[in-house]
Amino acid sequence: MKILYFDLCAILILFILGISMFRKNLGVKTNKKIFLLYLILFITTLFDFAAEAYDLWVPEDKISPPLLYILFYGYFLTRNLIPLVYQHYICAVTDTDHILKKKKWLRVLFVLPYVGICFLLIINLFSNKVFYFDENMVYTRGPLFLGLYVFASMYLYMGLIYLFVYRKVLTTEKLLALMSMYPWNLAAILIQAFAPEYMVEMFMNTISFVLIVNIVQRPEEQMNPTVGIQNHIAYMSDMKKAFLLNKPVQILLVKILNHQALLTILGYDTFNSLLKELAGKIQLCFGGKGSPCGFYYLENGLLAVTSENVSSSFFKIPAQKISEMITDSIQMGKLDVELNGCICVFNCPQDFDEYDKMLSFLNTFYTYFPAKGSVTYLEELQEKQKSELRMRNEINGIVSKAIAENRFEMYYQPIYSVREKRFLSAEALIRLYDENYGFISPELFIKAAEKTGTILQIGEFVLDSVCRFAAECSRTGLPIDYIELNLSMKQCMQNDLTEKVLYYIEKYNIKPEQLNLEVTETAANTAQDIVAANMCELSKHNITFSLDDYGTGYSNFSRITELPFHIVKIDKSMADKVFDKTMKTILKYNIQLLKEIGMEILVEGVETEDMFKQFKEMGCDYIQGYYFSRPLPKNEFVEFIKSRQ
Ligand code: C2E
Ligand code: MG
Ligand code: MG
Repeated sequence: MKILYFDLCAILILFILGISMFRKNLGVKTNKKIFLLYLILFITTLFDFAAEAYDLWVPEDKISPPLLYILFYGYFLTRNLIPLVYQHYICAVTDTDHILKKKKWLRVLFVLPYVGICFLLIINLFSNKVFYFDENMVYTRGPLFLGLYVFASMYLYMGLIYLFVYRKVLTTEKLLALMSMYPWNLAAILIQAFAPEYMVEMFMNTISFVLIVNIVQRPEEQMNPTVGIQNHIAYMSDMKKAFLLNKPVQILLVKILNHQALLTILGYDTFNSLLKELAGKIQLCFGGKGSPCGFYYLENGLLAVTSENVSSSFFKIPAQKISEMITDSIQMGKLDVELNGCICVFNCPQDFDEYDKMLSFLNTFYTYFPAKGSVTYLEELQEKQKSELRMRNEINGIVSKAIAENRFEMYYQPIYSVREKRFLSAEALIRLYDENYGFISPELFIKAAEKTGTILQIGEFVLDSVCRFAAECSRTGLPIDYIELNLSMKQCMQNDLTEKVLYYIEKYNIKPEQLNLEVTETAANTAQDIVAANMCELSKHNITFSLDDYGTGYSNFSRITELPFHIVKIDKSMADKVFDKTMKTILKYNIQLLKEIGMEILVEGVETEDMFKQFKEMGCDYIQGYYFSRPLPKNEFVEFIKSRQ
C-alpha cells in the first residue's frame, strides 16, 4: 500500500513557503524564475497526491479511468517540467541569460529532453507502453517507462556541467545548494525503485527547494528596503558576474552631491522617502518595475542603473530626464528640497577592464565632474580627460608603486623674510612623477594616501629627506635657517609623532630649530586633543609650528591661541583677493589681530610685484610665491639661494 504522508508534508511545507515568498520583494531578477519553479513544484505535488489518493481511496468500481489518466498525465507533464525550469533558474542565478539568448543550440538542447518525454507520453495514449492501468485499475509501468528516466537524467548531466562551467560566479555555498537538487532527486528515485510504496519524490524535491530558497535566493539580502531597489551587495555581485563572464554592461550613475547636507537637514526618514521617490522616478524613466534594467542604491547618495543594452543612445533620453529631476526641487511636505547631483554613463569592460577599477570609479567620478545636473558620457571624453580620470582612479595603485619604488622627490620653495631682506627658509613640497601620467598634484595623491593610510610612509620619507637636507645646509653653510615641512592630518594624529621627528633629528644630527612643522587648520580642529598633545610635546623640544592654509576653513581664534603656533600662513585663495576693497580690509585687520596675539605672518601664493608690495605694507613678515620662485628641485634650490646671497 502506498504511503502518501510524504506528499502531504510536501504540500504543507510548500504552502507555508509560498506565503513567505509572496511577502518578499519580487524586484530581484531571479525571483520570477524561482516563483515559476515554485508554482510547477506545487502543482506537480498536488497532481501526485491527487492521482495516488484517487487511485488508493476511491473504490475500484467507482474510479473513472479518464480522470485517473488526466491526473497521471498532469503529474508526468509537470513533474518533468521541473528540471527544465530549474535549468533556466540556474541560468538566471549565474547571470548567463545573455549566453542563452545568444546561443540557439543551447536553448534547443535544454528543451529537447522535455520534448522527448512529451513524445513518449503521446505514444502512450495509443500503445500503453509507458504506463497503464490494468483490469483492477492498478498502476503498471510499461517497457518504455525507462525512456522517461533516460530523458529526465539528461537534465542532470546538463545541469551539473553548466554549474561546473560557471562555478566561478557562485559562492561555494550557493553552488552546493544548487547542485544538491540532483542527489536529492537521485535518492528519491532509488528509494522509490526499491520501496515503491514510499512516495518520497516530491518530498525530496521540496526539501531541496527549501534549501535553495534559503541559501541561494535571499532577495531581502539584496534589497534596500527603505529605498525599494537593490542594494550595493546586489550591485557588486551582479557586476562581479558580468566581469567574470565578460558580459558587456552599460551603467548610469547618479550621485546626489548634497546628500550629506540633505540627511542632516531632513533627517534619516524623510531623506529615505526622498530617495525612494527619486528611485521610483528613475525606474519610470526606464519603463517602470518591469524594466529589464537593474536599479541599485549604493549608499551615500549614489544610485546606479545597469543595462545589457550597450548602445550609446540607450541612456540618452533617460539621462536627460534624470538630470532635470536632480536639479529640480522636490516637494517634501512644507519644504522645497533642492537636489544637487551629477550623472555619468560608462561601459564595462570597454571603459574599465577590471572589476576593482570600476568599483573605485564609483567613489571618484563625481569629484571630477561635479557640476550640477551634468551628464558625462565617458566615451565622449577627450583622451586627455580620460587619462586624468584614469589617473585619479588608479591613484592608490600609483602611490603604492611609488612608495615601493622610492619615486618621490622633495622640492623646495624659497621663503623671503621682509625684515631681513633675504631668503631665510623654504617650504618642502613633495613631488611625484609618474611615467604614464607625468607630475601628479600632491593635493590629489596626499588626499588618496590619507584615506589608505600610506600617508604615514610618505610622511617618513618627507621627514627623512628634509632632515637630511637641513644637515646638508648647515654642513655647506647655505644660509637657510629652517625648513618648513607639511604634516598630514594622519601624521598629526599619530601618538608616536614626537619620537619619529626626534629620531630623524638625531639621525642627521640637526638642531630642532632647523625644522618648522606646518599643520593645517583642518588638522588642528579635528582630533583636537591628540594634535594638541603632539604639538605641545614637540614644542618642548624647541620645534616650531606654522598654521597652514589660514583662511580656507573656519578659523577658530581661541583654538589658534591655545596651540603653540608661531607663524600663520595666509592661503593663496585669500591672498589673491588683496585687490578687492572689502577683502583687503578683512586681510589687513586679520593680519593686525594675528600679530597682536604674537603670531608672525607668512603670505603664500604671491605672484606679482604688486601683491608683494601690498603685503609688505600690511606688515607681513614672510613672503612665499612664484614672484620669487616656484618650488625647485634640491640642487636648483641651492643654486637659487647662492645666487641671491
Ligand atoms: P600648501 O602646503 O599650502 O603648499 C603651497 C602650495 O602652493 C604648493 O602647491 C605650492 O607649489 C603652491 N604655490 C606656492 N606659491 C604659489 C604661487 O605663487 N602660485 C600658485 N598658483 N601656487 C603657489 P603644491 O606643491 O602643489 O602642494 C599642494 C598641497 O599639497 C600643499 O599645500 C600641501 O597641503 C600638500 N603637500 C605638498 N607637499 C606635501 C608634503 O610633503 N607632505 C604633506 N603632508 N602634504 C604636502
Ligand atoms: Mg604648506
Ligand atoms: Mg598652504
